Amino acid sequence: MNSARHAALLATLQNAPVKAQPEKWGLQASDIYGENVFGLAAMRKHLPHAVYQELERTINQRQRLNPQIADVVANAMKDWAIERGATHYTHWFQPMTGLTAEKHDAFLSPTQNGQVISEFSGKMLITGEPDASSFPSGGLRSTFEARGYTAWDPTVPAFIIKQPFGATLHIPTFFYSYSGEALDRKIPLQRSIDALSTQALRILRLFGNLEATSVQAMVGPEQEYFLVDKNLALLREDLMLCGRTLQGAQVPKGQEMADHYFGSIPERVLSFMQDLEQELLALGIPAKTRHNEVAPGQFELAPVFEDANTACDHNMLIMNLMRHIAPRHGFICLLHEKPFAGVNGSGKHNNWSMCDSTGQNLLNPGQTPQDNAQFLVFLAAVLRAVHKHSQVLRLGTIGAGNDHRLGANEAPPAILSVYLGEQLTNVIEQIMHHGHGVSQDKPKMEIGVSTLPPLPLDLSDRNRTSPFAFTGNKFEFRAVGSSQSIAPVNIALNAAVACALDDIATELETKISQGIHLNQALQELLPRLFQEHQNIIFNGNGYTEEWKKEAEQRGLPNYNNTVDALLHYTDQNVQEVFLRHKVLNQKEMLSRQEILLENYANTICIEAKVFLDMLRTKILPAAQKAEYQAAKTLFYVQQVTSDGSACEQETFKVLKHEISALVAATHILEENVAKTKSAQTSKEQAILSRDLILPAMQTCRKYADKLETLLDDNLWQLPKYKELLWIH
Ligand code: ADP
Ligand code: MG
Repeated sequence: MNSARHAALLATLQNAPVKAQPEKWGLQASDIYGENVFGLAAMRKHLPHAVYQELERTINQRQRLNPQIADVVANAMKDWAIERGATHYTHWFQPMTGLTAEKHDAFLSPTQNGQVISEFSGKMLITGEPDASSFPSGGLRSTFEARGYTAWDPTVPAFIIKQPFGATLHIPTFFYSYSGEALDRKIPLQRSIDALSTQALRILRLFGNLEATSVQAMVGPEQEYFLVDKNLALLREDLMLCGRTLQGAQVPKGQEMADHYFGSIPERVLSFMQDLEQELLALGIPAKTRHNEVAPGQFELAPVFEDANTACDHNMLIMNLMRHIAPRHGFICLLHEKPFAGVNGSGKHNNWSMCDSTGQNLLNPGQTPQDNAQFLVFLAAVLRAVHKHSQVLRLGTIGAGNDHRLGANEAPPAILSVYLGEQLTNVIEQIMHHGHGVSQDKPKMEIGVSTLPPLPLDLSDRNRTSPFAFTGNKFEFRAVGSSQSIAPVNIALNAAVACALDDIATELETKISQGIHLNQALQELLPRLFQEHQNIIFNGNGYTEEWKKEAEQRGLPNYNNTVDALLHYTDQNVQEVFLRHKVLNQKEMLSRQEILLENYANTICIEAKVFLDMLRTKILPAAQKAEYQAAKTLFYVQQVTSDGSACEQETFKVLKHEISALVAATHILEENVAKTKSAQTSKEQAILSRDLILPAMQTCRKYADKLETLLDDNLWQLPKYKELLWIH
């Protein structure tokens, strides 16, 4: 055994699927579903009926929480949690780090007479004051009031996370500053959900629907991830600290054979999946599908869709649990968008639709002409939202990690367009022609009279190159990164669609107040809307260069990196979307821009420093050992033969050349990090990270990857791509 790498490789021979604990064997989903959740069923059982009814109204009808009932709810929640082994509770929140945060408090409080009692009041349930002053606030908190506050979100259930030594009650909360500004992503998400509901209801009322009381954004996120053997991953500080490899020569066998995609799932991976799914089910998270993804070592989990707020919390939990459970099975779970160069990265398809309180999916083309007309209005609203506000949607997908993916011919381009499929595009053309009265060849589509042709429920997502595809009764937004919270993208979608619905509702309401019939108003409005926004529809191949050119001609923006997109955060057209329905105020927007720029620069600076460390302490020393060996070989060959030593000279020369080039590149990287760090503002740091550090890292990588392919395998310390990607 020559190196730690070889020892780690040997250790993987011991890998075996972890056996389920006996008490978990053969459990039915129905036995465990929701057992760790204080949801409606548990509430009904543990709360007095009147209190339950009040709380149920808050949850289902979004009525204000009555603070009078908080003590009773807190007490019941505490008893329920303690019965299940909980010793602590925490206000669980989602600060702008993009992760979740928790600070645990014990239920126990000492009494005067030296005893302890368990304590959890309504006040403790409703608000918290974690001293969370170190979270990014983008200038929203001044030092004299640095605290953040948490407030219970009763609309998603509290839950317990069990560990071998106990359990902790988690209470989902909003996180805000002393002056009431949002410090998290849940507050703007909730505001965007409310805005969408209000505007969508206006449309439903116009269609005579008096029954629905609210409209929910429904979301089903498909989560991609990589599993890498833990023994091997631990030897790579880039994987441990950055979640992606900063160096790694291409493998002789990647995803070319498509033999991993949908292949039979390796046993050890399947054990991980089963373990994960059991925990998810216990938390009331409906994990539904699992399969091997395109890249070797890549997998996917998709839950059944839920309302956007719950789906967002659940997706955060899914990511947390994936990270926690993988090591039990000898894996590290990588959620990064691009852990390995040369094979596909990971995304998160955000399936989105709107559903009213009676269960009607508003993106479902209906059976009757009147249903069809309503569907077409909601469709037009989405087209308008994506077309007018594509920058806002793009902002929901930014991140240093996702920059490696978008537009790299494995994920949709950074240009937003909508795929509607042939049938629906045809319908829209018929409607547009009707408006102009130029329909010679195509049949006319009369709103409220004609019926739509049956549309296929496109479950196979035929056009994978589109960032935003209509798939039968929902839109699938495919540009989201695998590690990202789905809150930003859904905030953007809800807010942008709310603006479009608002415009449409205002126009229709005005017409109707003038005595014009709804169908007539639609017959005038829809052709105009489709004409105005037809440029956003693109059913072709989004990966091609021609599309980039055409998109430019169509005036569709292409911000192909985070910094470009972020600098547009304060554009008039972006601000309007957030301000109109008070999803974010001006201060909150500026603070978010600041935080995101800072986060981008920090991410890249950390990667550079990790890489410099690997280069100096692992890669260059190994290369220099090889150079020394080559020099020695050359020297002895020259001693013992007069037949020449061209071969040995060549080996030595090549090594020496690559090493010199790498040393020079390392110096440049070091200088560029220093230059970036000394910049005064986050904006400058972000720009320099992109323009100086990233290219310098790329150059270092080129030489380091080359050296990996030249060196004696015994000298190479870092686990190689073939080992990281193929050992499961
Ligand atoms: P595919 O894998 O082909 O993209 P699936 O049918 O597996 O399609 O759906 C993927 C995700 O879309 C799942 O999470 C599913 O629950 C969700 N989904 C299905 N219908 C809707 C809907 N009406 N609104 C939101 N999400 C939905
Ligand atoms: Mg999909």
